[in-house]
Amino acid sequence: MARERWDAIVVGVGGMGSAALYHLARRGKRVLGLERFGVPNELGSSHGLTRIIRLAYYEHVAYVPLLRRAYELWGGLEAEAGERLLHVTGSIDAGPPDQLVFSGSLRSCEEHGLPHELLDPAEVARRFPAYRLDPSHLAVLQPDGGFLLPERCIAAHAQLSGAELRTGERVLGWEPVGEGVRVRTERGEVEAERLVLTAGAWMGELAGLPVVAERQVLAWLEPSRPELFEPDRFPVFNLQVDEEERYYGFPAFEIPGFKLGRYHHLREGGPPDELDREPHQEDERVLREFAARYFPDGAGPALTLKTCLFENSPDEHFLLDRLPDAPQVVVGGGFSGHGFKFCSVVGEILADLALDGDTRHEIGFLRLARLG
Ligand SMILES: Cc1cc2nc3c(=O)[nH]c(=O)nc-3n(C[C@H](O)[C@H](O)[C@H](O)COP(=O)(O)OP(=O)(O)OC[C@H]3O[C@@H](n4cnc5c(N)ncnc54)[C@H](O)[C@@H]3O)c2cc1C
Repeated sequence: MARERWDAIVVGVGGMGSAALYHLARRGKRVLGLERFGVPNELGSSHGLTRIIRLAYYEHVAYVPLLRRAYELWGGLEAEAGERLLHVTGSIDAGPPDQLVFSGSLRSCEEHGLPHELLDPAEVARRFPAYRLDPSHLAVLQPDGGFLLPERCIAAHAQLSGAELRTGERVLGWEPVGEGVRVRTERGEVEAERLVLTAGAWMGELAGLPVVAERQVLAWLEPSRPELFEPDRFPVFNLQVDEEERYYGFPAFEIPGFKLGRYHHLREGGPPDELDREPHQEDERVLREFAARYFPDGAGPALTLKTCLFENSPDEHFLLDRLPDAPQVVVGGGFSGHGFKFCSVVGEILADLALDGDTRHEIGFLRLARLG
């Protein structure tokens, strides 16, 4: 029996996969999306109501041009979907002035001419009274920062793509066949000219990339003064407390609590299907201790706790490329806990790589060759 054949198949319809589907379909291609769970779902890396987006980028200055394009594309998606997906609050990147979050953020603002202000802890508290930074900290305030609604972004990309979606269908493997590719799922086999792998925390097993899943926990704590945690008085933040520890947080949105998390939480990595998905008291304790010190009006009982997965590459930069041994296969992985804000532009890049073999975007620092 003849197998179904598509122009492109996207495996994993989460943040990146939904955006890849959208951009491939916009270029007139017949596209199939295969997703093991639902679209969206709460078992990968893209759930929990809000994700920070910011232009000031301490992780690497070369992300800034990609972020400018990401903002543009999110705006286009909002207009097309007729709904608000991005809320601007401003972003605070703070910590000891000689450490990465503050110094890297400042550098990205200076090198790319981004509007920004430098604030000391007293000025931060005067403008945003929920914040109590350490006297030794300094902060960069960048006015374009804010948050995206990840589940709504995924739904919008997937729905507006018009692509065929098969949910609850796990991909078991794939192989190059001539210039194309054959994909084996729990239900059968399908073929395509191009394959895009965007399987998040499962990229190790599906694409053979060095991506390690890591358990994360998000907490929504009840504020004693909820008015201080409203989006118009509370910029999203990244706060570094020492060399090793960074936290991030959001104003109250939908769930009426102060939402926060710690990067690399309790450092629990491993195979994604074996990581503990239940939140525990110890998870809450760590996050509450941080809140009590730096956001004392936001450290009440936990309203909600959720686990989520990071998908770490060896250097915590993304992996965007065609596979050297199978150029008809394009990978988008290793987003290392900071990828969601880029989904819109990553979708465009993955479509470029799949259909044109290259992209106009500067992604040299994200290609596989750097890993050796
Ligand atoms: C707690 C937490 C907070 C974060 N905060 C931020 C933030 O504030 N800002 C930011 O920019 N980023 C943030 N990130 C990172 C960001 O959310 C991720 O980098 C991004 O969502 C990754 O998207 P993805 O498409 O790679 O993964 P996912 O959205 O998880 O998509 C992968 C999909 O592949 C599917 N899949 C896997 N294997 C198979 C298979 N064999 N067959 C079929 N389907 C399969 C999965 O079910 C899943 O739906 C955060 C991440 C976490 C966990």
